[in-house]
Amino acid sequence: MICKKCGRKIYDKAVKCPHCGTPTENAQPKKPEKKESTVNGFAIAGSLLGIAGFIVSIAVISSSIVFIFLPILGIIFSTLGIVKAQTLKKGRKMAITGLVFSILGLVITAAVWIYVLIAAAVL
Ligand SMILES: [Zn+2]
Repeated sequence: MICKKCGRKIYDKAVKCPHCGTPTENAQPKKPEKKESTVNGFAIAGSLLGIAGFIVSIAVISSSIVFIFLPILGIIFSTLGIVKAQTLKKGRKMAITGLVFSILGLVITAAVWIYVLIAAAVL
């Protein structure tokens, strides 16, 4: 074959050009690409918990105090998801979505909780 860099003829199975040292196509045999974990589990868990917490906070407003663990877990997992998304390059938007919904759910739940406590104290 011909060296890509210097254009001289080199041995077909050479790993690098003996004249200029440029690696040939043989230098990097095609390995099956190592499949790294492409799923950001924390982001998925965080967004699911966040959205679930948000829906529950609206749908089951009278008993939402019981479900306050949902948005709290949602915030924890979403935050972990955002951290993991920096190295994994995946799930960032999902984790942010989870975080937003978690915070909304938590705020709604807390607001209802405070309202119920004040109403109970007044009555
Ligand atoms: Zn060469």
